[in-house]
Amino acid sequence: MANITEAEIRKIVESIIKGTSVASNHLKYSSTEYDGRKLIGIYADMNDAIDAAERGYKAVRAMTVEQREKIITEIRKLTVAEAPIMAAIGVSETGMGKVEHKKLKHILVAEKTPGTEDIVSEAKTGDNGLTLTEMAPFGVVGSITPSTNPSETVICNSIGMIAAGNGVVFNPHPNAIATSNYAVDLVNRASAAAGGPEILVCSMVKPTLESAGIMQSHPKIKLLVCTGGPGVVKAVLSSGKKAIGAGAGNPPVIVDDTADIKKAGKDIIDGCCFDNNLPCIAEKEVFAFSNIADQLIAEMQKNGAYLITQEQADQLVGVVLEEKTNKAGVKFKTVSRDCVGRDADVLLAKIGIHVDKSVRCIICETYFMHEFVQHELMMPILPIVRVDNIEQAIELAVKAEHGNRHTAHMHSKNIDHLSAFAKAVETTIFVKNAPSYAGIGFGGEGHTTFTIAGPTGEGITSARSFTRKRRCVMADNFRII
Ligand code: NAD
Repeated sequence: MANITEAEIRKIVESIIKGTSVASNHLKYSSTEYDGRKLIGIYADMNDAIDAAERGYKAVRAMTVEQREKIITEIRKLTVAEAPIMAAIGVSETGMGKVEHKKLKHILVAEKTPGTEDIVSEAKTGDNGLTLTEMAPFGVVGSITPSTNPSETVICNSIGMIAAGNGVVFNPHPNAIATSNYAVDLVNRASAAAGGPEILVCSMVKPTLESAGIMQSHPKIKLLVCTGGPGVVKAVLSSGKKAIGAGAGNPPVIVDDTADIKKAGKDIIDGCCFDNNLPCIAEKEVFAFSNIADQLIAEMQKNGAYLITQEQADQLVGVVLEEKTNKAGVKFKTVSRDCVGRDADVLLAKIGIHVDKSVRCIICETYFMHEFVQHELMMPILPIVRVDNIEQAIELAVKAEHGNRHTAHMHSKNIDHLSAFAKAVETTIFVKNAPSYAGIGFGGEGHTTFTIAGPTGEGITSARSFTRKRRCVMADNFRII
């Protein structure tokens, strides 16, 4: 897929793991500059950004597929080379996640996001001649991106959307604007280096809900792609335009008594802690058969999990969830932005428990209706609920997923159990006997994406998701047999 060799990738990953890669300790960044260098393609006005993205689209339209692929190859190279910088800015700006894991996420995007090879034409021949179906670009795509995987989503979207022949304008999350705009600039630098336009993709100096609104109603925007929580997905789906919605998840994990419990304990903690649980696919709550629950918890503890009591869990609820009141005066709870994506030891310190950085995850035994089970926390806290049998496990896990149709996981060697849960939960991604990230191609087969479109059905999006099908018919001719 990528023009980077496996050996090159392995070398980079090894250097990251050993900590020998360039670390940026004195970061100087803003939404328009990095280290004194002006970022390319960043506009104060959404209308200007859309006009520039339209010029980018026209330039892409005029290119051969080979030229597009050259730009994509350059994006991949720069993404690998600058992964340490984007990872460092991402953590510094948002206060969320882990630098080492964010580097790996960027490398995954560079290596496993499909390019132009994903665009495939179809031909149908018969007595009446030849009909050709091609995957055409939409035009200018408006993309709304999250704070949890900011630059990863910008680069992943850019590769797929450019491969499909589109222009792109981003309205990134305001809390991750410098990180997102660094990635926009990287795509533009890659374009220029590969002989493409200097401004291929665009973004905002200060993205707001208002600029998102302009994007959603602008006549030049032909497709909206949004990656984020329920609010934004609802907003774009009400826009009256074609929209791809990649929404919230709350992935449950079932562990039955046929599973390799040692492996399950390690896999679940590895997946749950990856980038401090920011990925929407990461394990959020566990339903464990009662007869293996103690062993599973012990294995988790061997892998950096810290077990807290029910009382301590309730204390932590008061810290990580905030009570708010909506416009109708109804009270509701939402995750505290100061706790999302934070290290486990930092969260524990908030309730007076002081541990070192070897603690990767907080676990607790609890009951189904507990807030830790019901809320998508996006932090390394993992509630565990004991269940008596597979029927109960599936019933509760399906309810905990809240109909998001996003992601679910299972550790089992019983194919009947695995099939029953997969059928019942109806998620876009279902991972068996592996950490969650295997579901997006990290240690699992298949391409990657950071825009998993459950609500609108495109699934693991790629270049072809950002195309519209067009048909050309040649009646009674062009058949060669
Ligand atoms: P968020 O919902 O707070 O923000 C996402 C984006 O939407 C931001 O750019 C934000 O500014 C914008 N936004 C929010 N409300 C809007 C509205 N009414 N109109 C227009 N724009 C609006 O998300 P976040 O906290 O950055 O990310 C976490 C959430 O995103 C989680 O729920 C997670 O599961 C989900 N997510 C899903 C995927 C996926 O592929 N399905 C990937 C990453 C994150």
